Amino acid sequence: MTEKDVVKKFIGSPFQLCGDGFDFTGGPEIRNHYRNWVALLHILLVKHGKKKGFVFNPSDAKLMIRICQKLKLPLKQTDVLVTEIVGKTRKMPEEYASVLVKMQPKILGMKKVPSWIASRNVEVDWNTVDVKKQGKFEGFPDCCVDAFIERLWNDFEFGWEFLQEVKEDENKVDREIRRLIEVMGANYAGYEKRVSGLNPTQKLVMRYIHFVLLSVRNPVLEARIPPVIENDAKRVVDYARMFQKYPFVLHLACEDCLSDENSPSAIMNNSFSKFCKNEYPELYEKIVDDSSVIDPQKQKSVLEEFWLEHLGYYFKL
Ligand SMILES: [Zn+2]
Repeated sequence: MTEKDVVKKFIGSPFQLCGDGFDFTGGPEIRNHYRNWVALLHILLVKHGKKKGFVFNPSDAKLMIRICQKLKLPLKQTDVLVTEIVGKTRKMPEEYASVLVKMQPKILGMKKVPSWIASRNVEVDWNTVDVKKQGKFEGFPDCCVDAFIERLWNDFEFGWEFLQEVKEDENKVDREIRRLIEVMGANYAGYEKRVSGLNPTQKLVMRYIHFVLLSVRNPVLEARIPPVIENDAKRVVDYARMFQKYPFVLHLACEDCLSDENSPSAIMNNSFSKFCKNEYPELYEKIVDDSSVIDPQKQKSVLEEFWLEHLGYYFKL
């Protein structure tokens, strides 16, 4: 089977290759296979040495493995722990920030997730991975990766602000920690064990860190505080804006890139678009057609309505 046949077959019966950039609230009117077309393009870019690598977390690995086999592209499966990066701290003291990031996997019971790495010959240690490492591997522009880190870090700053509002009432902080631990189905005794034996200063740090982490990155989405939900919804809308501007890139372009025709994202988009048009015109058509029907305004109102209805959160994105 030639490369062109693989592309043709995928266009005939696509499946999920790419997770980010969509929201489950979108509904069929704004959800189509656009991101999967782009993911396939990026696999082909790796195959042709125009991109170092591509990391997947597919819903069905078997299908994806078959594609890479047909393309004779080496694929490595590995279980990866995704960790976060401390951004520019604004209100949260730095000493809290670094402990928070270090404690996150333990407090939230984070597990390694099966990931597949398509790459021609790069050896990378994938035991732990963060946005920066993945960005470098995929060749995303530094400006966009840095902006993405700040976007994620904002959530923790919101959590810190929320803590300032309630921290005078120690009982309230403890009750909230207990509630949030139970919401995620974890055992409160684990928390008690973690803080027992600590001196009062250490104990305070641990309580605050638990409070922020559990209200910001709770695995149960509904348990997160409203500004975090809003921040996440904004990300989805920004993806939709980006799909209009730079439909051939995979990363979320930063605001600077979005407003500059000569930005790293713009240049990358042009080059990927040309490659796609020349080599795989059918795939090119799919990307252009399916990205053009994704409407950021529609995405905005769908998300605003969803959260208002779902949790009574009112925000204007
Ligand atoms: Zn950028």
